[in-house]
Amino acid sequence: KSGQLATADVVVIGGGQAGLAAGYYLRRAGLDFVILDAQDGPGGAWRHVWPSLRLFSPAQHSSLPGRPMPATREPYPSAAHVVDYLADYEKRYALPVHRPVRVHHVHRDGPGLRVDTDRGTWHAAHVISATGTWWQPYLPHYPGRALYQGQQLHTVHYRGPAPFQGQRVVIVGGGNSAAQILADLTDPALGRGGSAAEAVWVTRRPPRLLPDHIDGRALFTLAARRRADLHAGRADTGGVGGLGDIVAVPPVRAARDRGALQARPMFTRLTETGIGWDDGPRIDCEAIIWCTGFRPALRHLSPLRLRTDDGAIPLTGTRAHGEPRLHLIGYGDWTGLASATLIGAGMNARDAVRALTSHPRQPR
Ligand code: FAD
Repeated sequence: KSGQLATADVVVIGGGQAGLAAGYYLRRAGLDFVILDAQDGPGGAWRHVWPSLRLFSPAQHSSLPGRPMPATREPYPSAAHVVDYLADYEKRYALPVHRPVRVHHVHRDGPGLRVDTDRGTWHAAHVISATGTWWQPYLPHYPGRALYQGQQLHTVHYRGPAPFQGQRVVIVGGGNSAAQILADLTDPALGRGGSAAEAVWVTRRPPRLLPDHIDGRALFTLAARRRADLHAGRADTGGVGGLGDIVAVPPVRAARDRGALQARPMFTRLTETGIGWDDGPRIDCEAIIWCTGFRPALRHLSPLRLRTDDGAIPLTGTRAHGEPRLHLIGYGDWTGLASATLIGAGMNARDAVRALTSHPRQPR
């Protein structure tokens, strides 16, 4: 489509799991649509995570609509398994994914929206934005960050323990990424005569490691029940766990059992050689890995000026208040319950397509 002007009922931006799930429902609704994806191949963010990452739910509970994820021999599938599944998914439903196509901006244009990309312009009656969060890593500010001479990286840069052999590494963050990277770095099987690296784990709150029998599937059920309770005005049952809590997948379990999951409170500053606490100790380290999360990748929507003063984009369901021809999916609970998980992406996509087809065109 290079340099051309093209039209579609719906342009989906992003061809990860959320974009593909949208494609599934758009196909069923008989709409004319395209999926524009910046990657060279299928899989979205799953193409970029570290090889030892394990899903926190078994395959049968990690499926998109229509096609179950094939079972794996290990209880928790790898990221490569998800990439294969998503590649097969888009082929099976003949989803019209165009790649690599990077969307620069979305503009209002007459009765529809104009989508400017590095491969031409699209006009659409509706846009579904499904660009994920992996592309917007979040790093909190701590004094001394520019002072520190060692290596600093974020979850998105971590590829495995090999470069950290024999080093002391500080891991920041209390979620699943931090726990799995810590387990990876301290796996005794990977180091010569010991673990690959010495890890120092720091978290803002004491990390919550879930009991062995609670995995992503149970968390999803709990989250759904909690939402129903709140919706019905019943007491908030709060909780056994939340989606941010750490699931004891086998490598994390092994790390716990060898005593490696000991977290310290968050440091207050970085020094030239490491980290330090006010009135307290300092620890030198060769590297700091910030497992501090992500923000939604929404720069392409900036011309629409949808953010309120607090930075949020207000939605009704998946539809943007400020632009009713735009739907947002897959970014987290604010776009739909557990929408940034494989099991939640389908429902979020279904809701978006349902809303979009029940009000086919909403002139502003
Ligand atoms: P993505 O997979 O990021 O896909 C978005 C796509 O949009 C990408 O291909 C991207 O290149 C493209 N894109 C972005 N901007 C543009 C643009 N401007 N123009 C065109 N294309 C663009 N979920 C689970 O269900 N189970 C788990 O066990 C699990 N573990 C996780 C572990 C980690 C470390 C992380 C980070 C996440 C995990 N998740 C898990 C969460 C979730 O499933 C993923 O974050 C998921 O990849 C989100 O899918 P998505 O389609 O919304 O976004």
